[in-house]
Amino acid sequence: MEILDGKKVSNQIKEEIAAQVAQMKANGEKVPHLAAILVGNDGASLTYVGSKVRSCERIGFESTLVQMPNTTSEIELLKKIKELNENDDIDGFIVQLPLPPQIDEQKVLLAVHPDKDVDGFHPMNFGKMALDMSTFIPATPFGILELLDRYQVETQGKHTVVIGRSHIVGRPMSILMGRKGFPGNSTVTLTHSRTKNISQITTQADIIISALGVPGFLKAEMVKDDVVIIDVGITRVPDETKAKGYYITGDVDFENVSKKASYITPVPGGVGPMTIAMLLKNTLLARERHRSRA
Ligand code: NAP
Repeated sequence: MEILDGKKVSNQIKEEIAAQVAQMKANGEKVPHLAAILVGNDGASLTYVGSKVRSCERIGFESTLVQMPNTTSEIELLKKIKELNENDDIDGFIVQLPLPPQIDEQKVLLAVHPDKDVDGFHPMNFGKMALDMSTFIPATPFGILELLDRYQVETQGKHTVVIGRSHIVGRPMSILMGRKGFPGNSTVTLTHSRTKNISQITTQADIIISALGVPGFLKAEMVKDDVVIIDVGITRVPDETKAKGYYITGDVDFENVSKKASYITPVPGGVGPMTIAMLLKNTLLARERHRSRA
C-alpha cells in the first residue's frame, strides 16, 4: 500500500508556482492577485479562507480578504462581486461557501465573471470542463487529478466509483474520470444517497472517490483488494481531549481499508492540501490569461 501524500505533492506544486512568481517579479511583471469573500464567521470557513490567504502570501501572490457580516444581504454581496469583477488589479476571486440562508448561492455563482472564477463553479466554466475545453477545473477535483497524475496511478479502463454528487466534487469528478486522456478513460459509476446496495457497486470498483461527508462510511468489506482510495471527506468530530476540541476525519475507515488498498489518501494530509494548491494554480492561470487579454 502506498500513501498518496497530498501534503508532500501540494508543497511541490506550491514551490513550482513560487518559482514562477519569482520569475515574474524578476521580469518586472505583475504577480497574481487572489481575493476571497467570506460572509459570516463559520469556524471551518474561517480556517479554509485563512489558509488560502496564507498560502498566497507564502508563494508571493497578492491576496485580499473581504470579510462581510452574517447579516449581509444578497444585494450587498452581489455589489461586492461586481466590484471585484471590475477591479483590474484582481486576477481571480472566490466566494467561500456555504453562504447564509438569505443569500441564493446560484445567483452568486452566476455573478462571478467566468474569467475570474478560479473556483470553476460558473456554469460557463463547468460546461467547458464537461466539453474538454480549457478552463478552470474546480480545485478539489483538479487536485485529485493531479495526485493521480503525479503518482502515475493507472485509470484507463478502470471502474471508478464516485460516492456523492455535489456540484463541487462528486459531479465534476465523475465527468473528469470518464473523459478521454489521463487521468481519465475510466468507466464511471456515480452514486449518491438514493443508490441501492452501494456495497455491491463499491466492491466492483478499482478506484473509489468518496465525497459524502460521513465519517467511517467506507468499510473494508465494501472494497476489493488493491483498490485505489481517494477520501475527500472532511468532518470535524467533537473531542474534548484535543486542543481544538475536535479532530478531523474522512469518509473511509482508514485503518482497515488501507490494509486492502494499493493506494490511499490520508485525512488530513490527502485531498485537502491539494485543493488549496490547485486554487493557486488556477489563480496563476487566471493571471496569465488576464495578461494575454490586456
Ligand atoms: P455534499 O454537498 O455535502 O453532498 C454529499 C453527497 O453525498 C450528496 O450527493 C449525497 O447524496 C451523498 N450522500 C450522503 N449520504 C450518502 C450515503 N449514505 N450514501 C451515498 N451517498 C450519500 O458534498 P460535498 O460538498 O462534496 O462534501 C462532501 C465531503 O467532502 C464533506 O465532508 C466535505 O467537507 C468534503 N470536502 C472536502 C474538500 C477537500 O478539499 N478535501 C472539498 C470539498 C468538500 P444526495 O445528492 O442524494 O443527497
